[in-house]
Amino acid sequence: MSDAPLVIAIDGPAGAGKSTVARALASRLGFFLLDTGAIYRALALTAARAGIAFSDAEPLGRLAETLPIRFDEAGQVYLGDEDVSVAIRTPEMSQGASTVSAHPPVRQALLGLQRKLAARGRCVVEGRDIGTVVLPWAPLKIFLTASPEVRARRRFDELSAKGQTVDLAKTLEEMRVRDERDSSRATAPLKQADDAVLLDSSELGEATVVDRMEALARSRFGADLP
Ligand code: C5P
Repeated sequence: MSDAPLVIAIDGPAGAGKSTVARALASRLGFFLLDTGAIYRALALTAARAGIAFSDAEPLGRLAETLPIRFDEAGQVYLGDEDVSVAIRTPEMSQGASTVSAHPPVRQALLGLQRKLAARGRCVVEGRDIGTVVLPWAPLKIFLTASPEVRARRRFDELSAKGQTVDLAKTLEEMRVRDERDSSRATAPLKQADDAVLLDSSELGEATVVDRMEALARSRFGADLP
């Protein structure tokens, strides 16, 4: 047994399958899932509704300080009383989240919120900078990636399944732009933590990825897990 909260940090680029496998892993272990991308998406949605440009760093930072976001136990995302789980998942909000998240005042404002949400322990936290910046002390860090083509195809399938009209070449291009922006920003860029385990899911099915993550969690947390 260790005193560090049981937290698993999963980082990686868009479309690597983080959300799906993180949810499955959390459910297998009986952990809470904290999807930090949803926080940036909710901020982008709030900004769009308030008429604040995604490029406007200072007002966005102020908006982030009082963002009334919460998650229920099923992982639904709320802004106040409104369930915004679907509204934040559009391609516009993907690009919006990527743009607003590059501003230092936004990242600073949301850092404390993410740490507070993770402090409960027994959670899987997924994002871009969880192992490097938000929870560098996390006892288990996984960096999940896949080739750009595989990631674009997965995102395309996901959006098509939801009935959204999408174009594969456009999805690949949007993903490339988002990767470039996420990896090159000055504050908390997407990068693998030195002590993270690298998992490439290009050739692996979802269940295999979750099996591997569960094995890592069991070897790290042993008797602390059910
Ligand atoms: O993971 P998801 O695709 O929902 O994230 C949306 C955007 O939010 C990402 O492209 C990234 O720019 C930003 N993000 C971030 N840091 C995180 C999680 C997400 O910058 N920890």
